[in-house]
Amino acid sequence: MTLPDWNPRASLEPLRLPWLAAAGLELAVLRLDALDPLVSGNKWFKLAPYLAEAARNGAEGVISLGGAHSNHLHALAAAGARFGFATVGLLRGEPQQTPTVQDLQEFGMALHWLGYGGYRERHQSGFWEPWLQRYRGFQPVPEGGGGLPGARGCMGLVAMIREQLDSLGWDDYHSLWVAAGTGTTLAGLVLGEDGRHPVMGALAVPPDHGVAEQVRTLLVGAGRTDQGYRLIDASRGGFARLDAQLARFLLDSERDGGLALEPLYTAKALLAIREDAEAGRIPAGSRLVLLHTGGLQGRRAMQAKLLQLAGYTDRAMEEQG
Ligand SMILES: *Cc1c(COP(=O)(O)O)cnc(C)c1O
Repeated sequence: MTLPDWNPRASLEPLRLPWLAAAGLELAVLRLDALDPLVSGNKWFKLAPYLAEAARNGAEGVISLGGAHSNHLHALAAAGARFGFATVGLLRGEPQQTPTVQDLQEFGMALHWLGYGGYRERHQSGFWEPWLQRYRGFQPVPEGGGGLPGARGCMGLVAMIREQLDSLGWDDYHSLWVAAGTGTTLAGLVLGEDGRHPVMGALAVPPDHGVAEQVRTLLVGAGRTDQGYRLIDASRGGFARLDAQLARFLLDSERDGGLALEPLYTAKALLAIREDAEAGRIPAGSRLVLLHTGGLQGRRAMQAKLLQLAGYTDRAMEEQG
């Protein structure tokens, strides 16, 4: 496989919301969700170093793992379709049709469902062997594009922000916010910031999921200290846990700000900003940057649930036409 020299630039755009104005805050969003019609999100940046390695190795294609809503497999399959290389996805659980799975199929990714037990074996030595016999010359990529290469792929996002501050009329910003699932993206931002601005990680998973350890391992592995960031529990009780307050916040923010949000990561991170501001931890006059990490294709499966949770029945009816 070969890869074209593709260095997409996400735009940095102001997001204006009543509660931000009331708190005296300005917010700009780095639109990783709108990189490209096919390939988007933070998962592209985590994947890019692995794809470069696959191309260097002359790989036949790329094989990786994820769930039925995996934004990582989505980015990989989209990249395969866009750049013309073969992709294989090993999926957790039993076959199910989700908007993400439908996209994977349309992008031409070969899918194999491993069940739950089979998927749990992914960390055992020898897991890849039969797959690499079946798909000879394919490059395996870890789940989610994790690890130090994935983190390094996100370092350049900091320069992408810096280069666009002028267009907002900003000379600097106070802190950089991102949702954290494994913390790989966050670690990349901490490396990219190199102490210039604190990186605030809004945890999309509960604090006992090992994100802090993961981030520390990545930073130490890159020869840095375990500093320059703060983790905040934004999970609301669990990964993918939705509630009425979050649903209302997301739908109201979309209406007021004109930006589509994704409930499991970016909306939770935005709500974490509001809660931090309400708790008096962000001084008025601050300028903040938030990464929109994408994943909007998965949101399609959740629209009805969000409206129902929020109790926005009128809009639900509009939606259904
Ligand atoms: C995977 C993902 C994240 C979290 O990225 P990590 O590097 O695992 O912390 C955030 N937002 C979206 C939309 C994602 O798909």
